[in-house]
Amino acid sequence: MDPVSLLKKYYGYDSFRKGQREIIDAILCGRDVLGIMPTGGGKSICYQIPALILEGVTLVISPLISLMKDQVDTLKEYGIAAELINSTLSNQEFREIIECARNGQYKLLYVAPERLETDSFIQLAQEIPISMVAVDEAHCVSQWGHDFRPSYRRIYSMIERLPKRPIVTAFTATATMQVKADIVQLLDLYQPFEYVSSFDRSNLYFEVRKPNNKLQEVQAYLSEHRGESGIIYCATRKNVDELCERLNYLGVVATKYHAGLSDEERTQNQESFLLDEVPLIIATNAFGMGIDKPNVRFVIHYNMPKNMEGYYQEAGRAGRDGDNAECILLFSTQDIMTNRYLIEKGSDSGRMVEYEKLNSMVDYCNTGGCLRSFILKYFGEGGLEKSCDNCGNCNSDIEETDITIEAQKILSCVKRMHEKFGATQVADVLKGANTQ
Ligand code: ADP
Repeated sequence: MDPVSLLKKYYGYDSFRKGQREIIDAILCGRDVLGIMPTGGGKSICYQIPALILEGVTLVISPLISLMKDQVDTLKEYGIAAELINSTLSNQEFREIIECARNGQYKLLYVAPERLETDSFIQLAQEIPISMVAVDEAHCVSQWGHDFRPSYRRIYSMIERLPKRPIVTAFTATATMQVKADIVQLLDLYQPFEYVSSFDRSNLYFEVRKPNNKLQEVQAYLSEHRGESGIIYCATRKNVDELCERLNYLGVVATKYHAGLSDEERTQNQESFLLDEVPLIIATNAFGMGIDKPNVRFVIHYNMPKNMEGYYQEAGRAGRDGDNAECILLFSTQDIMTNRYLIEKGSDSGRMVEYEKLNSMVDYCNTGGCLRSFILKYFGEGGLEKSCDNCGNCNSDIEETDITIEAQKILSCVKRMHEKFGATQVADVLKGANTQ
């Protein structure tokens, strides 16, 4: 069956999105692929449809067990033969899956990267015909990414041990130069067909606010957006708990999500948000991977995240349905301190990279230029020619004036007063006040 018929038959969609068709055609010609698309862009279909057409099994490597489980469940619902191998399987289950895989019962086999080097898995991989290895969230292979997973480095050695080299495809939403180069090199992609779709999400409005009181700011925002579905991200679990409690106390219906809650509570809270029983969820960055809720109308960051990759991924959960949505970041200088502290607390390796990324994040918060252009440039796309008319800076009525001379005068005065006086006296001197 051809790709379009399969798209219709299994997924119920009439046409491919931009890029999907090109990627699928390249794979069907036997080429390796590097596909870079923003979250929600539709990467899965790019390898799932070729998997159905190619002879043999496609191995899909993905970093998160919960994500894989959701994907496999969805595929099974569509009637596609897919299964999942991870560390939660019992020996008995693992043996059954291996048996079925040997009998050629699957088209897609999802594998956790930790599994790749186990003898039982390597043995299986050598016995079954593997047509393709698809690496999801491929940036995890790079230390320059925001989510390095050492286990991703095993993918290459697993491929090397296969009797016949399969097609290797890699997909990610992170496209900085270093990450791209690392993916190609560390997964050993052979002259890959590269597809980079634009990262621009024109329906998203971006704004940075610097309120004196974040709680009041959020309250005011929520009262203007009553009933709309939204996410508020906070930097820490403690912030999540506190904000949720305060808002609940103020009569706002909201639930919460972070890694400190029990599995049961987390699942329940997530469900009630996804099913629109509760419009608002307050969460740490633990929330959202693999979440595909179309009608999120706003994403507020209560704290500045530590890098643009994380920010854009989280903010990008707004407006998946293509309708207008807002991404508001509430900045305070305290957020810089918090992130510095977190970086210092983390491992030594990669600290410099993290500081560099943090600096870019701070630049985003302080730029007077177009926020969308800033984002696109950061992800290697080159900015927009003119203002985007859909971000806080392009829409602001603040006028820019050059105050270099005034600033020089002020600093010079401070210096000549031997840096001993406060703002009031300095201002008096500059104005020539008639005081002693
Ligand atoms: P990604 O992995 O890039 O974040 P997904 O593969 O999860 O994105 O796709 C995001 C959403 O877009 C899913 O709900 C998917 O069903 C939908 N989608 C993908 N391709 C198409 C298409 N050609 N037409 C309509 N919807 C699509």
